Amino acid sequence: MRLRFWRRRRALVCRDAVALMAAYLDDALPTSDRTRLEEHLDGCPHCSEYLAQLRVVIDASGQVTPADLDDDTLDEFVDLYRRWRSG
Ligand SMILES: [Zn+2]
Repeated sequence: MRLRFWRRRRALVCRDAVALMAAYLDDALPTSDRTRLEEHLDGCPHCSEYLAQLRVVIDASGQVTPADLDDDTLDEFVDLYRRWRSG
């Protein structure tokens, strides 16, 4: 399983970091996951930017006005967030 796979790794890969972002922004991550995500963000400008954009989308509370986001990225964000909220 993917979860077990990445839990055994020391560092998150970008895909895993993105998967944690919705919970992170909702302040709902366990400390261990939060720490690992922040460590990843420190070393990964790409994911830092991703998180910043996701924060904008969520702050707009579903009112998606994608000035800078392409459709695929936006769909991914919204889907990710909705899935997490409904789970
Ligand atoms: Zn990354």
